[in-house]
Amino acid sequence: MYSTAPLVVLGLGANLGDPVGQLREAVRRLRELLRVEAISSLYRTAPVGYAEQPDFYNLVCLARSALEPAALLAETQRIEREMGRERSFRNAPRAIDLDILAMGDMVVDAAGLTLPHPRLHERGFVLVPLAEIAPGWRHPILRRTAAELLADAGELERVERIQAFD
Ligand code: ADP
Ligand code: MG
Repeated sequence: MYSTAPLVVLGLGANLGDPVGQLREAVRRLRELLRVEAISSLYRTAPVGYAEQPDFYNLVCLARSALEPAALLAETQRIEREMGRERSFRNAPRAIDLDILAMGDMVVDAAGLTLPHPRLHERGFVLVPLAEIAPGWRHPILRRTAAELLADAGELERVERIQAFD
């Protein structure tokens, strides 16, 4: 049953405090919640949307979970809260950001949860790490693979691979 649980794609980012330490702590907590199958390299990326803030550190994680989407979002938001994330505004600097990029082929359009994440195909900090670990992953609505989405994305923000994440 567990092995057939949908593939969950998570995007993690941080740009305040000790961003790499916070990503490690977030991954540790995610491992308690779901079965992590792959983690991308660590990337440093230019902030999108609101430029007057430090660079982000980002990675993408593939996992399996039988949780319902709303339940998983509640858990990832709990982790954000416990790790000191203060909600301010979209694209604001943050100690940790956990985005659910996709859950299997599910399409969800609810008030607090949209799947797949509506902006994933235009963000270098998602597409580059995702294409690294899952180039053949296919967007459930656009029907394009991660590699195709990256190739088609045009000009993206600066995305620099730092090192393997272990
Ligand atoms: P962003 O990550 O776009 O900068 P936030 O992290 O501040 O934005 O999240 C804003 C809201 O996005 C959250 O309150 C959450 O309810 C909503 N949201 C919608 N879809 C998703 C998703 N797939 N993953 C995470 N949050 C989501
Ligand atoms: Mg978010």
